[in-house]
Amino acid sequence: MLTLGACIYLLVGLCLVVVGPVARSLSDQVSRIRGSDLANALTGREKVPDGKLLAFRLTLSIVFALLWPLILVSVLREKTKADTEQRAWKLRVESGIEFSRMGGAGAIHCSACGFEQDLVSFTHGYTDDGERCCDQSCQCLSCGKFIAVHGIGEPAHFTVTSCECGGELSRDHVLFCPKCRSRDLRYDMHFIT
Ligand SMILES: [Zn+2]
Ligand SMILES: [Zn+2]
Repeated sequence: MLTLGACIYLLVGLCLVVVGPVARSLSDQVSRIRGSDLANALTGREKVPDGKLLAFRLTLSIVFALLWPLILVSVLREKTKADTEQRAWKLRVESGIEFSRMGGAGAIHCSACGFEQDLVSFTHGYTDDGERCCDQSCQCLSCGKFIAVHGIGEPAHFTVTSCECGGELSRDHVLFCPKCRSRDLRYDMHFIT
């Protein structure tokens, strides 16, 4: 009975290293060790010999086949986490535009009321003294006004930290129209630095 149980356990392990999420995880590990030709060329890393790669794959397959319940739980947990993060990201992208996804400088258009404004999402450069500097915009979470701020140094030091209405300035939120507060905004980038 014990032998039959061990045989079934090993059989399941062997199946899992051939197909399914455990097999995919194994292939990912091998690919990571192999690296792409382009990445190897860029980093100057030597190609891993096929023999070593095969030995690594075999060793990993044996470990995965023997410890498959642990590997399976870990792989499924990672997959659930990745799926949740992807769903959250998709929802956020669908809900509107954000500074983190807007490059350079351009204009905001509100599809609900027609409001338009030019603004700098983020540009960077150097001062006359050779110090790093950047220009970016924030939005007041209370009145909705877009405020341009200039930062000097690295990390950048900003002189403006709050809106004249007393509201908090933010760059980490889904933007809304200052006029009608709709989130149905569009950003057209004009240039980037
Ligand atoms: Zn509007
Ligand atoms: Zn304000």
